[in-house]
Amino acid sequence: MKRLLKGGRLVDPANGIDGVRDILIDGERIARVGADLPVDGATVVEIPDGFVLCPGFIDMHVHLREPGQEHKETVATGTAAAVAGGFTAVACMPNTDPVNDGANVTTYILDKAREANLARVYPIGAVSKGSKGELLADIADLKKAGCVAITDDGYPTKTALLLRRALEYAAMFGMPVIEHCEDPSLKGDGVVHEGYWAASLGLRGMPGACEALGVERGVLLAELTGSAFHVAHMSARASLRAVRKAKETGIRVTCEVAPHHFTLTDEALGNPIAYDTNTKMNPPLREAADRDAMIDGIADGSVDAIATDHAPHHYDEKQVEYDRAPFGIVGLETAVPLSLDRLVHAGRIRLSRMVELLSVNPARILNVPGGSLSEGAPADITIIAPELKVKIEAGKLRSRSKNTPFDGWELRGGVAATLVGGRPLYVNADTRLAL
Ligand SMILES: [Zn+2]
Repeated sequence: MKRLLKGGRLVDPANGIDGVRDILIDGERIARVGADLPVDGATVVEIPDGFVLCPGFIDMHVHLREPGQEHKETVATGTAAAVAGGFTAVACMPNTDPVNDGANVTTYILDKAREANLARVYPIGAVSKGSKGELLADIADLKKAGCVAITDDGYPTKTALLLRRALEYAAMFGMPVIEHCEDPSLKGDGVVHEGYWAASLGLRGMPGACEALGVERGVLLAELTGSAFHVAHMSARASLRAVRKAKETGIRVTCEVAPHHFTLTDEALGNPIAYDTNTKMNPPLREAADRDAMIDGIADGSVDAIATDHAPHHYDEKQVEYDRAPFGIVGLETAVPLSLDRLVHAGRIRLSRMVELLSVNPARILNVPGGSLSEGAPADITIIAPELKVKIEAGKLRSRSKNTPFDGWELRGGVAATLVGGRPLYVNADTRLAL
């Protein structure tokens, strides 16, 4: 089956293209890209004016919760949320139950992904057995089963020695180590960012230095080992400073920022509703200077990727006292509108930079297919409608969990459609797009 996407603006920074082009899809692949392509027996899809064709977005930090916590999310519901949010692929974190620390769990996740047949799923394995921080997981086994990176996310890698060994082994298999950067002693039992809002609400805080210490440790060990080190969900300006310095020195460090860390500050802890547990995540919402630093880093190229840290939790689990609620919010279905509204329309970045952050760089960091719309590549395509009016409604999210602080937000720009391997798996009914 052939499909000709006609007359859209194509933004493909990996190939240096930003202009009107057609894409001919033949089966699962992109057959041709060019201006005014002949129809050649294909079904023609007219792309409405102003819509943009991008290489499929890749969310490199997602918690799919399966196996073990299917009441929060499954591979099927999580990948349905992914395609609705414009993501053609997700990388899923190993803190499932059991932990993804071996080929059996990796294979289980990949089987579920094949059954769901929606977004592509790239499992990330654990650094240590059970993520307990004692014995290194069998990294060769994880790689062979299909893992693309390793991490003990949820927590930092327990010791510097273990992180050093993880970096050494992961490099042998061409994988980065992804680190939840945090100094446990400085975090203590903190639940929010240490500052004015923590103090006024009587909540225990953790400072930005808590994260930055973890970044500094990883940077030093990346320098020592020469391996690739990736900072997950960066939120503090001191962390960004450490990443910038490391990059200038030639150390192999990359980093991601989550949409909530470039849109919200700790003011959300008290405003408009105090103690809303959908403002509780780790790392926490920080003060304005940190939020602004994240946007600066996104704009100047210091930040490599936007990743959601999609962390579904059941309503009942979040409906408890603030201190006792689990950390995390869902993010797959809000990331693209937030990025368009707060970064592109706010004049901080161009669309091509947004595509680098959401597609080109995640593919490069994880060494997975995608990130470009080259002829012969899989037809993983995200179509965005930059002027679409979007209202976020928690109740309508496809994710099994609805824990978002963005309920009711009205944003400019959204996802029009998502194609994976040439198949339109999501088409936004609010657009005039017919696929
Ligand atoms: Zn984490």
